[in-house]
Amino acid sequence: MNQRIMIVEDERIVALDLKNSLTHLGYEVVGMVSKGNDAIIQAGSLQPDMILMDINLEDEIDGTEAARTIFERWQLPVIFLTAYAEEKTLEKAQESLPYGYLLKPFDLRELKATLQMALARRDTEQTLRQTEERLRLAIKAANLGLWEWDRERDQLQLGGHNTLSLSFEHGLCHGIDQFINRFIAPSQQQLRKAIAKKESFNLTLAYPAADGGLHWIDLYADFKASDTNPKAQMIGVFIDVTERCRREEQLRQANLVFDTAAEGIIIMDERHRIISTNPAFTRLTGYRLEDVFGLTPEMLIHQRRQGDASYPWMLLGKRQPAWHGEMVCVRKDGRQFTSWHHVSVVQGHGRTATHYVIAFSDITAIRQAEAQLNHLAYHDPLTGLGNRNKLQDRLAIELQTARINQHQLGLLFIDLDGFKLINDTLGHSAGDQLLRLLADRLRGTIRSSDVLTRQGGDEFLLLVPVVNDANELVSLAEKVLQTIRTPFCLAAESVTISASIGIAIFPKDSDTPEGLLQAADSAMYEAKAQGRNLCLLYTHEMAQRSMDKLRLEQGLALALDHGEFTLFYQPIHSLIHHDQPAVEALLRWCHPERGLISPDLFIPIAEENGLIEPIGEWVMREACRQGSAWLASGIPLSRLAVNVSVRELRAGDYTARVARILKETGFPPHLLELEITESMMQQVDQSLIKFAELKQLGVNIAIDDFGTGFSSLSLLKSLPIDRIKIDRSFVQPLPQDRHSCELCRSIISLAHTLDLTVTAEGIETPEQLEFLQSLGCEDGQGYLFSQPMAIQQLPDYWAKKQDH
Ligand code: C2E
Ligand code: MG
Ligand code: MG
Repeated sequence: MNQRIMIVEDERIVALDLKNSLTHLGYEVVGMVSKGNDAIIQAGSLQPDMILMDINLEDEIDGTEAARTIFERWQLPVIFLTAYAEEKTLEKAQESLPYGYLLKPFDLRELKATLQMALARRDTEQTLRQTEERLRLAIKAANLGLWEWDRERDQLQLGGHNTLSLSFEHGLCHGIDQFINRFIAPSQQQLRKAIAKKESFNLTLAYPAADGGLHWIDLYADFKASDTNPKAQMIGVFIDVTERCRREEQLRQANLVFDTAAEGIIIMDERHRIISTNPAFTRLTGYRLEDVFGLTPEMLIHQRRQGDASYPWMLLGKRQPAWHGEMVCVRKDGRQFTSWHHVSVVQGHGRTATHYVIAFSDITAIRQAEAQLNHLAYHDPLTGLGNRNKLQDRLAIELQTARINQHQLGLLFIDLDGFKLINDTLGHSAGDQLLRLLADRLRGTIRSSDVLTRQGGDEFLLLVPVVNDANELVSLAEKVLQTIRTPFCLAAESVTISASIGIAIFPKDSDTPEGLLQAADSAMYEAKAQGRNLCLLYTHEMAQRSMDKLRLEQGLALALDHGEFTLFYQPIHSLIHHDQPAVEALLRWCHPERGLISPDLFIPIAEENGLIEPIGEWVMREACRQGSAWLASGIPLSRLAVNVSVRELRAGDYTARVARILKETGFPPHLLELEITESMMQQVDQSLIKFAELKQLGVNIAIDDFGTGFSSLSLLKSLPIDRIKIDRSFVQPLPQDRHSCELCRSIISLAHTLDLTVTAEGIETPEQLEFLQSLGCEDGQGYLFSQPMAIQQLPDYWAKKQDH
């Protein structure tokens, strides 16, 4: 295609001549104008390849001005034509950067050469401009920043598109230091080192961004080629790599998690073949990656809790990106462990699964703890028997079965007699041991279909799911009683214990679990009331009696406040010589409806519920007050015996309490005798301390009901005791019963060798008195002398005695 030329010439002839010449040379003349302004307009619309412009135009703007405007607007090349070559014109022409300069007149060859050179220059410049434009666009598209540093002048110029360049005004830094100071400490050092080396470098640098966060750039810099000083100019680009750095950081963190996780992690490809595992995987399974690479993870699974031994791959996908469940796994060494598996799917861009990840943990310990908790919820930890919950569950089930099959069912309520005493005297660990031994024995006594549970304390329940008639249950209960009665060896001592058993039968006694339990409980209480070591079948009257007992318990709580207690006194006599008045204080409860109630009925209840402490304190104060009153009235009282419960003695401040009462009432301590039941003596060490404290007060100590407990006389010799009281069960068969005679004889002679005085309780006949006198028994009390009596009667009694 021909090159297109535009002519600007105000001399028409010259213009036409020029056009001819150009056409001749093979150019196309696309326009001819004579004025500067027209030239600008035409150039814009024609966009010629070259403009031949007369400098001197007869117009308001001349050629140089028109040329400058055209170049500025469209970068179109101009060759000036002029007849003059004076300095001023040339200078002006030069300002508009012309592509050539032709002095008129010129010949054709000159015109051709000038045009060729100018067009060639224009082509080069055009190419250059395009290249530059492309570079500019590329820099913009790549979001590159430009970095140029003149080392000698220490001038740094930033450009391009990058947030870092924005942080300097006009992209200009005042020297490299200002630039370096933008970076955070580690990056500063990196950059300083790189610059000092005077070599090209490529660094990743962190700097604080305007948003307050941390950003990163990759900075590449090299030296500009220059002949004079090759290391003077550095040039380079930088690019924001914050995103990449953050991702790398995340990746590093993810790797750390992968490596240090407590959970085993398996990564699989899209066909569930293992491609990666973490250290925890090896720890948990014993397999290394080499062992399992390329295999599917099913090799690890033994069985799923529910369902088959495979992962539910089919379920996983777009809808359900994860699955979790419990599995039993097999280690490399064959051992099994329960584990919790979390399987998730990794989806690629096309939303198809590219990878699968399994995270699993060993939950064997959790499952074991669960099982243990479950066991605990249904078992008594002490004996290993079922507990209350277990009984409730089984009772409900067995009752249902009995109802459907229309057969009877039995429930035995077994309660040990005097177990509290063993706990109090031999200590809790001995008590626990007894319960364990007992549970073992009972297990051996019952059938495997029977359910034996411990309700707590010393209460056991035996459920017999199928019963043909009541006698079966009675024989079973008797067998149980027999088993319990066989002596136990506890803390190197032989201990005998008995039990009371209540029996209830479905459907005769009740058809609900609660009703049956209640019935068995009532029957058991009745057995206790009838003297213990006994089994009784439930009768409907028992319900009434156990109600009575409940009422008694409730009434007892109020009796002290209502002033319903009173003390009776039973005289004690010397069997050897003429004696002075001595008494034992015995508690009575004047019940508003039931009249006088014997302590044998309510003391055990008060001991059970703790009321014995305030009641005992009342007894002690009342007795001492009365004793002081008698003394003050001239009665030569020689001894005041007060019964003390083991439970009271256990109180830490018991001695102080007694001391306070003695002080309050002014009763002389040496006249006070504390009667403590024999069972207390079992805990020799503790008793020793307690007794020593009490002896310090100056009071006397007697062992009550001697012969009924577990202790031996030899045990007593280590304790600071003054007296023993032979239980009336040994006195009553005297003198006919040879065994009792021998027993009393040896008790009394042994007591004497230990320097203890002896009182015989319950002397009812002159024969008994005579026999005891013959054995040298010092004191006695009993109906033969007097029943316990109210205070008012005593002065008369003593007066009569005096008369005899
Ligand atoms: P204990 O200390 O052995 O008291 C003697 C019991 O035998 C008294 O029964 C008394 O009435 C009774 N007794 C006395 N002589 C005869 C007799 O010749 N024949 C018969 N069959 N019995 C006789 P009581 O008063 O019913 O007291 C029973 C038990 O209650 C007492 O036995 C004692 O262990 C306890 N007790 C009584 N008062 C108190 C008290 O204030 N505190 C405590 N902790 N226990 C008390
Ligand atoms: Mg007594
Ligand atoms: Mg007694």
